[in-house]
Amino acid sequence: MRLVTVAAIFYIFILLSNATSIQAIVENMRGASGSVTPEIGVDGTIFEFKYTADPFQPRIPLRQINITIQNPATSDEQLFLYDDGTHGDTRPYDGVYYGAWDSIGKPDGLYTASFCSNYITSRCGTKINKKFIKSNQCKELFYKHNDINDRRVNVVVTFINYEQTGFFNRATLARQLIEGTSGLLRVEPFKSNKNKFNFFVVDENGAVSDYQTGERQFGREALNETARLSAKCPLENKITNAVVNWDFRSNARGPNIYLSIGNRYFDQYTAVNTHEFGHAFGGLADEYTEDRSNLSVTRDEYDHLSTAIKNQCFFSPNVQCLMETRNPGTNYNFSYLVCGENCTYITNGTAHCDAANTAVAQCQENPAWRDLIGKGCGRDGVVDCLNQTPNGRYPAGYYLEERCVSKPGCYYPNLIRHDVQNIMYNYDRIDSTSLVEGFGPINERTLCRKIKEKTGSTSGICNNLCLAGCTNGQKCISGRCQNG
Ligand SMILES: [Zn+2]
Repeated sequence: MRLVTVAAIFYIFILLSNATSIQAIVENMRGASGSVTPEIGVDGTIFEFKYTADPFQPRIPLRQINITIQNPATSDEQLFLYDDGTHGDTRPYDGVYYGAWDSIGKPDGLYTASFCSNYITSRCGTKINKKFIKSNQCKELFYKHNDINDRRVNVVVTFINYEQTGFFNRATLARQLIEGTSGLLRVEPFKSNKNKFNFFVVDENGAVSDYQTGERQFGREALNETARLSAKCPLENKITNAVVNWDFRSNARGPNIYLSIGNRYFDQYTAVNTHEFGHAFGGLADEYTEDRSNLSVTRDEYDHLSTAIKNQCFFSPNVQCLMETRNPGTNYNFSYLVCGENCTYITNGTAHCDAANTAVAQCQENPAWRDLIGKGCGRDGVVDCLNQTPNGRYPAGYYLEERCVSKPGCYYPNLIRHDVQNIMYNYDRIDSTSLVEGFGPINERTLCRKIKEKTGSTSGICNNLCLAGCTNGQKCISGRCQNG
């Protein structure tokens, strides 16, 4: 008797645990779903819709449901989907409905297909909305990569004044920009977050006739034409990559990139484009200084710079004395006002390196990146890649290992950089012969935070960068804040 009771209790326990796992499965399967194929198509494309009813909701086995197709430029249309074994539907009454919509003659634009879910009577419960695009000129750059119904950043490449180059070749060049030698998808964190981005190219060569040549023009004459072309891909959350065929200094402004390539070899510009993407997408600053940027920044000015810049360059009042090392009265003394790791910079017979060392020491406690110091080469949390190899080269990762480098950055020669050089400092091609190795962990973290803000999540290398930051005294080691 007693044995039976124990057995019975045990049996009930098994039932309960089974019930729990069955419930978990039910939760996973719960919900209706809808889809549109293709998500983007030219005039005359037959868009196909599929709706799968929630198998756990009571459902009158109707043979049809309706969806509404909406676009701001035209009146709403009703469309029926069928579960009757015809109309593209293979099995009647299985809860899977099909329908098709002929786009011929409809206006270009972004459409929404609104499916009824939880269909019980003639009443619609929660709506499922799926977007699709009808456009003759918005083309997908990579086969089967995009998903416009996923929360992603949309990268749209446009070309201006490429009248000698047909669309097929322009699309090839656009792909090269994105995945060529130093293209976006070859560089972290974009490489391991590829599925957070959609890529399009506009099938129209834009034309701008009233531009002036010269590097100071910044290609801004292309602004309106870029906006017009980019609108062919009617999407939100967009970075527009304008490739422009005249000489100016490539740059980024807001979410637009103006890339001057002309008829030169595209592969040499992939790193420039990735650098500009760092500006346009991540709000990252340039980390180089120029001869003309001979003004130091004050404490107050620094405090008003963007968070992204403060994540890149550190202010120390002590660096002011480095400025005094300039040769007075000449124009070409700037930069390289460096007390490098060896602390050798001497002017007027005096080494001003105590100040530099003080500044570097202060920077080690800088909350913007102290938890990432030592990341990027060798062991996390330890600056361990400073020694040249016997052949005089630095180990891979040397240039990107995060630390405090008493070299001027972010335009202002009195700001301290976080690594020796990265793609925001220099934009040579990234390959085995280049000194540039990528964005570096600190800039990667800024970019990962932006990916998370724009798409809701991150993957790959971002999971290794402690996106929330670590508390004082902790370091980001193997993706976790730990007492270092
Ligand atoms: Zn730049």
